[in-house]
Amino acid sequence: MKKHNFSAGPCILPEDVLKKASEAVLNFNGDNLSLLEISHRSKPFVDVMEKARSLALELLGLENKGYKALFLQGGASLEFLMVAYNLLQKKAAYLNTGTWADNAIKEAKAFGEVLVVGSSKDKGFNYIPKGYSIPEDVDYFHCTSNNTIVGTQMKTFPKTNVSLVCDMSSDIFSRQLDFEKFDLIYAGAQKNMGPAGTTLIIVKEEILGKVERHIPTMLDYQVHIDKDSMANTPSVFAVYVSMLTLQWLKDLGGIPFIEEVNNKKAALLYTEIDRNSLFKGVVAKEDRSTMNATFVLTDENLTATFDKMCKQAGINGIDGHRSVGGYRASMYNALPLYSVQVLVDVMQELERTI
Ligand code: PLP
Repeated sequence: MKKHNFSAGPCILPEDVLKKASEAVLNFNGDNLSLLEISHRSKPFVDVMEKARSLALELLGLENKGYKALFLQGGASLEFLMVAYNLLQKKAAYLNTGTWADNAIKEAKAFGEVLVVGSSKDKGFNYIPKGYSIPEDVDYFHCTSNNTIVGTQMKTFPKTNVSLVCDMSSDIFSRQLDFEKFDLIYAGAQKNMGPAGTTLIIVKEEILGKVERHIPTMLDYQVHIDKDSMANTPSVFAVYVSMLTLQWLKDLGGIPFIEEVNNKKAALLYTEIDRNSLFKGVVAKEDRSTMNATFVLTDENLTATFDKMCKQAGINGIDGHRSVGGYRASMYNALPLYSVQVLVDVMQELERTI
C-alpha cells in the first residue's frame, strides 16, 4: 500500500503523473527511446518545454501579460543570488520570515544595500511581520510566501509601487492570488510541481536590463528568455514531470479547485490540533500555512508511542525540520484529503489510548 506522504520536499506527486513519468523513462512518445536518451533539441522535448512553460503561465493567469516562464537549474537557492544579480542596482527591501528568506538576504548583500523592513527572527519565525513599510526608492521588495520550515504563510501582500519579488517555492499553484502583482516569482519544483532538479521562474520581461553590472551568461534571465530555457541542457526529466503535474492540475480544475481541497485539508488538521489537548500548534493562528502544519506533543513522553502509531498507519515524513523539531505535516497539492484524515484518526486514537 502506498504511504501517506507528508514529506516537506521532495514530496508526494500525483500517482497518475508517476505512472506516466515511469512509462516515459522506458518508452517516450511510443518511439522506443527513453525520455532520458533523446536530445533536448529534438521536437518532442522542445514541445514538452514549451508546454510546461505555457501551462505555468496559464494556471497563474499570466499569459499575454508580458511575463515569461523559465525552467532553470540550481534550485530556489540559486535564485536568491540571480534575483539580486539581475535586479539590485542600489538598494532592495527584504522581509525576513524564515531561514530561506534569511539566505536570500545574505546573498543580496553582495550586490547592494539591503533593508530588512520586517523580521520575525525574534520569535523563531513563528509569525509573519505586519505593519512594515517599503521605501519608494528600492529596486524591489522580496518576500517568501510560505515558510516551509516553521509553517507560516503570508495571507496578504503589501500594496507598493515597487517591484514585488517572491519566493513561492512551497505554495506555488496551491491558492489563488493576484499573481499580476508580482514582477518575479520563483519556486523550486520539488513541492507542488515535480521532482527536484528544476526551478520555475516567472518574470515580467520589462523589469530586466536595468542594472549596470555585467551578468554572467548562465545567471542572466534575459539570456534564458532569449534561448527559451534552453541556453544549456535543461533537466529533461524534471521539466517533463513538472509539465505532467501542471497538466494534472489543469485537468482537475486548476488553482481554484485545488485551493478548496487544500483549505479542507488544512482545516481538518488544524481543527484537531486545537481540539486535542495532546497537541499544540507552534505558529500564530492567523499566519498558519495551509501547506506545512507544524505542531508538538504537549507531553514529550508520548513521542515514541505516537511515532509508532503513525508508522503503523503508513504515515511518512511528519518529523519537524531538523532546526525546529516537533512535527510538520506537509499537505501539498497531490496529498489527498484522505491522508490527512488518517493522520487525524491516529491523533484521536492516541487520545483514546492513554
Ligand atoms: N525557499 C523555500 C521557501 C524553500 O522551502 C526551499 C527549500 O525547501 C528553498 C527556498 C530552497 O530550495 P532549493 O533546495 O530548491 O534550493
